[in-house]
Amino acid sequence: MAVKQKIKKPLHLAKLRIKKGDTVLILAGKDKGKEGTVSRAIPQMNKVIVEGLNTVKKHVKPRGQTQQGGIIEKAMPIHVSNVMLKCTECNTPTRVGIERREMGQDKKMRPVRVCKKCGKVIQDRTRSS
Ligand SMILES: [Zn+2]
Repeated sequence: MAVKQKIKKPLHLAKLRIKKGDTVLILAGKDKGKEGTVSRAIPQMNKVIVEGLNTVKKHVKPRGQTQQGGIIEKAMPIHVSNVMLKCTECNTPTRVGIERREMGQDKKMRPVRVCKKCGKVIQDRTRSS
């Protein structure tokens, strides 16, 4: 009997609350308790890559003369629930809320990330203000 295929939901592209350039605290895994900088955010997977953390050792075969063989350490994506954003204002790992505030020179209402601890707007390091 034919089974109706589940209709795939469109990829939920909700923006991550953690962005490139953020400092995060690792909450799980072998690098638990360490802090690092997000080098890439992957909203489709709800994951982020933290520079130099959550690494795996990869054996690489030499390819021709351009690539040397050996072991390289590669940072693996880590789920956003396993990291906590460090507030740029109070320097504490915190949960993040989204609020609309008047931002920029034109005072437009824009969604911004707000620290649940100190209530201040968390700076976005990828965007120059
Ligand atoms: Zn704060």
